[in-house]
Amino acid sequence: MSKKYQVVKGFRDILPPESKLFWLAEKLARDLFARFGYQEILLPVLESYDLFACSIGTGTDIVEKEMFIVPDKKGQNLVLRPEATASVVRAYVEGLASQGPAKLFYFGPMFRYERPQKGRYRQFWQIGAEAIGYGGPGVDAELILLLDLYFKDLGLAEIQIRINNLGCKICRPSYREALVKYLTDNEAGLCEDCRRRLSTNPLRVLDCKNEACKTIAQSAPCPGEFLCVDCASHFEGLQRLLNLQKVSFQVDPRLVRGLDYYTRTVFEFQAQTGLGAQNAVVGGGRYDGLVEEMGGNPAPAIGFALGVERLALLLEQKISRSELVAGPEVFLIFSGEEAYRFAFQLLFLLRASGLYAEMAIDEPSRSLRSQLKFSDRIKSKSALIIGEDELKNKLLNLKLMESGKELKLEYQGLKNLANIDWEELKSHLQTPGFAYAGREYEQTLVQNRDLLKLLKIYFNELNKLEA
Ligand SMILES: [Zn+2]
Ligand SMILES: [Zn+2]
Repeated sequence: MSKKYQVVKGFRDILPPESKLFWLAEKLARDLFARFGYQEILLPVLESYDLFACSIGTGTDIVEKEMFIVPDKKGQNLVLRPEATASVVRAYVEGLASQGPAKLFYFGPMFRYERPQKGRYRQFWQIGAEAIGYGGPGVDAELILLLDLYFKDLGLAEIQIRINNLGCKICRPSYREALVKYLTDNEAGLCEDCRRRLSTNPLRVLDCKNEACKTIAQSAPCPGEFLCVDCASHFEGLQRLLNLQKVSFQVDPRLVRGLDYYTRTVFEFQAQTGLGAQNAVVGGGRYDGLVEEMGGNPAPAIGFALGVERLALLLEQKISRSELVAGPEVFLIFSGEEAYRFAFQLLFLLRASGLYAEMAIDEPSRSLRSQLKFSDRIKSKSALIIGEDELKNKLLNLKLMESGKELKLEYQGLKNLANIDWEELKSHLQTPGFAYAGREYEQTLVQNRDLLKLLKIYFNELNKLEA
């Protein structure tokens, strides 16, 4: 036996039908974000080590412990990106800044070298957006409203929005000073990591998961008490705009984000049910100083990252497996060689016209019975039976799987139906006293536009046989 390969430790395959959840999340993001003026940016997965050390900050867990470092052949340290904001800013400064402000979004895998544990992998997926060159609270509101609509469109209503303001480079230092003083007074109660964070990244103590640290954090001073006039007015402006759209949110004075670069607005979208304690699906915030720190001209900016794995978990609880694995509109069932050839041609015409059609394509001699079984197993919505008789006498023999209804028509009836157009069909049905042999079928067709398309294409193909 040859060697059996396994997925690398800490990584996983996202198999169907779960992959469909990722696809849904991505597809909606593309459609919706475009309507908000966000354009897609495709970024490399590898970046230089320094990019993250500079932007995320050397005192963070990400840079200290979780970077996925890949030495290249020249001994230079590259990393698999742990997040994408730094990459977006790098790309903006390098290639877009001369065009002014930019609204960008991305979709892709991120990497962190964490100890593998249940539900956590070294490769995970994010959808994110960054608005660079925008300083006012309007774009902060826009991003939050964009996400609110995104979750609503996905059918996820129980998501709570939390916002806070961390202050700017003018007011932040006095807050930091007060925080460090408070934490130093309580240092004995902090965990080992937090004692170290005290000097490197004291804000990070506020979202430590350790129970003792949580208790201490609860009485710590909040950034809101230290805001300068501009920061306070920015925060009020954001709340006014959110209220104008009647979106519900909570001001959470203890909401912080662990990375050094955040300023002013920070926000989180948290699932009320379905995720347990790790319930944040989106984290975002403003980083007004980062573009300049990374070598660009000063440009205020804000962005968010959404965890696709957590989103998929929520969607999985909403969408049934049968919705996720949609069967073909039609399964073509053939009997005999001539019917196989006819069905084979019809199959690609249907697909080219936009229908999901399927048949037992590599088994020309498969029995009718086993084809029907196969059609059932993949949850086809209808089965079109094509045998010698159907071809010779030009008949329609279509079975609708859900209702069990069989549509059987002879050539003339099929011809009449195939000639009807959709709008006409609807108006026929609204005409009082309208009598027509195909009426029962029409009613079925009104409910299923794809079926009408199928009949038209089938009829056209039958018609060619005659010629
Ligand atoms: Zn300020
Ligand atoms: Zn701690």
